[in-house]
Amino acid sequence: MRVLVTGGAGYVGSVSVERLVQAGHHVVVLDSLVTGHAAAVAEGARLVTDSLREREAVERLLRDERIDAVLHCAARSLVGQSVAEPALYYAENVAGGVGLLDAMLAAGVRRIVFSSTAAVYGAPDRVPIPEAAPLDPINPYGETKRAFEGALRWYGAAYGLRSVALRYFNVAGASALNGEQHEPETHLIPNVLAAALGRRSLTVFGTDYPTPDGTCIRDYIHVEDLADAHLAALELTGRVDAAGGLTACNLGSGSGFSVLEVIRAAEAVVGRAIPCAVGPRRPGDPPALVASNERARDLLGWTPRRGTLPEMIGSAWRWLEAHPEGYAG
Ligand code: UDP
Repeated sequence: MRVLVTGGAGYVGSVSVERLVQAGHHVVVLDSLVTGHAAAVAEGARLVTDSLREREAVERLLRDERIDAVLHCAARSLVGQSVAEPALYYAENVAGGVGLLDAMLAAGVRRIVFSSTAAVYGAPDRVPIPEAAPLDPINPYGETKRAFEGALRWYGAAYGLRSVALRYFNVAGASALNGEQHEPETHLIPNVLAAALGRRSLTVFGTDYPTPDGTCIRDYIHVEDLADAHLAALELTGRVDAAGGLTACNLGSGSGFSVLEVIRAAEAVVGRAIPCAVGPRRPGDPPALVASNERARDLLGWTPRRGTLPEMIGSAWRWLEAHPEGYAG
């Protein structure tokens, strides 16, 4: 297949690009490098550094490269930033995404896999969360992802666009080549490992949640498991019924771990205690998010193969040890 990966120089995109190249696909990466890293793009993939919002350039690229399907990972993805700057999130995640869809239609490309998020569910009453749960995002990040899912649904019905939306839970871990490096870093596992290295202090955001140990529970999924699911989803876009409504799949391991469990597991990986302080809740954090992943198993024939905390945290730690300066080194 000839695949365009938007955001292919980012954390999730770059590991999927590795996997696509390994599987023998022709891969073109479109990434503005505003948050991505050129060094993260696997050998064998072509990197184009245009912005998604340059619609004509995107259309030309789709035609020139004779693209069959798009894996759309490019997005703004920080919850706190989305609350402070919703305009950025609507411009890039909604307007930028819709520009991509219009370029695809003009170029005759009708297959897309979209990186969506569990944030579309907001703070659900019950876990595990099935795809049929109400979509009720509690921040602009989740709202812009929901809006784009809506565009996919209606473009399917009207224009025959065939799409699969993958609702990621908490992506973690690293491949041998690529790992997580955000600026600023807000995610738990990189922050825990940075604290283990003495690079920053660690705060547990809230110990008074209605969970067994009082800290939030999340479903962590290995970034390489996510890459496997992307391959299966790209194949699935060849079979979905465009007019039959949006095909959305949760991607999570199906197990939940608390913040304290993550810290304990990281201590076992690094072999020493990791100092942490207890702080207040972080606004907008739901107490528990755990995926029901039955649909992904059925539709994608996918199963998480690296779903334990030691595997996920261990791979992130090995990547940090091998790249002490991150992509700058
Ligand atoms: N968290 C924390 N300290 C940190 C970063 C995160 O206690 O330095 C908590 C956060 O409040 C949430 C969980 O860890 O309950 C996972 O947060 P993360 O930002 O990794 O992912 P999110 O679930 O927000 O997408």
